[in-house]
Amino acid sequence: MENTTDIHPACDCVAHRKDYQHWPKENAEIRIASCMRVCPFCAKKHSNASRLRKHLCSG
Ligand SMILES: [Zn+2]
Ligand SMILES: [Zn+2]
Repeated sequence: MENTTDIHPACDCVAHRKDYQHWPKENAEIRIASCMRVCPFCAKKHSNASRLRKHLCSG
């Protein structure tokens, strides 16, 4: 629908917020910090960061 990047904030940190403006489509899992829970691509919420990381690796 929109031409802007369709990235959901994975956490609420101000420090990480600007990262989502340039979030990579590939190798995103290496940027997952321990505070992140929400998938940047599909907005699915996970119980912890390692599950989110796995979700990105398998997806
Ligand atoms: Zn964060
Ligand atoms: Zn996802």
